[in-house]
Amino acid sequence: MTESANIPTQLQRDDICFIPIPRGEKGPKIPEWNKPGNTQKWDSSKLEAHLKSGGNYGMYPAMGSDLLFIDIDNADEFSHAGGTDLVGETYQYSAWPDKHKYRAIVECPDIPQYWRGSKAVFPEVLEIFFPVGLVSTEARDPNNGVMKSTQIVKAAGQVVGPGSLHPNGNIYQPFNEKAGILAIAWEELKEVTDKLGDGKLDKMPQYFPVQGDYLPGPGRQLLRVRYNLSLVMPDNPYPRGNEIRGANPFHGSTSKGGNTSVNPHKGVFYCFRCNKGYDAAGVDAIRRGLIECGDDYTADVFQKHVAELEHDFPKVRIAEVELFKAKKRALNDVTPGRKLWNQKR
Ligand SMILES: [Zn+2]
Repeated sequence: MTESANIPTQLQRDDICFIPIPRGEKGPKIPEWNKPGNTQKWDSSKLEAHLKSGGNYGMYPAMGSDLLFIDIDNADEFSHAGGTDLVGETYQYSAWPDKHKYRAIVECPDIPQYWRGSKAVFPEVLEIFFPVGLVSTEARDPNNGVMKSTQIVKAAGQVVGPGSLHPNGNIYQPFNEKAGILAIAWEELKEVTDKLGDGKLDKMPQYFPVQGDYLPGPGRQLLRVRYNLSLVMPDNPYPRGNEIRGANPFHGSTSKGGNTSVNPHKGVFYCFRCNKGYDAAGVDAIRRGLIECGDDYTADVFQKHVAELEHDFPKVRIAEVELFKAKKRALNDVTPGRKLWNQKR
């Protein structure tokens, strides 16, 4: 019987994307594993079956997560820079009994937006894997040689998870299996990394994220304003910076931690379980059962949604028609001179 990896309770979170990896290997064989849509949740039956059969697994923090996966390749140098003090007693694991290489998982609530979707590399000492982000990449079109910019939601890398089998024959073991995930401030992290590569975290990464992947389009904006639609708050809410975190009211699950974030300022409802964000129109469509959490708000959904809203709130359209008529009358009521001026324009 082969020993099988279990995902530790600390990592049983909806804001981590998991990828099955063959036993004893470090690289996923799944195409485009860096896109969150191709990953698994910690409790997926597919992942469970893979682990039961002795497979390894990789992981990266999902979109909107505050987790950082720190891959330490040289424990001594990292420690000299103050790294050991920084990561303290957080959840750490290694495939080496002498821990000269190890991984630390921390939560950093103030990760700058521009690092999301990237990784920071301090050659031969450490790599920091940031949560999934929307990044814009430039590539030359092979057909006509023209540079083209595309935007994709992706992770810059993955790390093999604890319990997996390293190619060296050792199992990745936690330092302390009861350790929690420690929160650190971005400034504290920078104090350490500045000693390894001056100001590196202040510079823009190779790929830079673009805001607005899940932000509403103009049609939906119109719908939101027209029907005064509002976001839905998560269950068991608690504040986190500018956001309200809590449980997703649509999944009805008793998921650990806050699998949903609502940002009233940006007008976005974000579900970590589905890696999808919705504006108030999207949330209203979920509430009405036109889509489920995780589905796309397509043009087809938009049309159905408009039809339902017009049926439910006929007065909105009547009021708009009245307003339009009143504006037209006002235009005709202007003095002859003014009318002429209007025509000239
Ligand atoms: Zn969801």
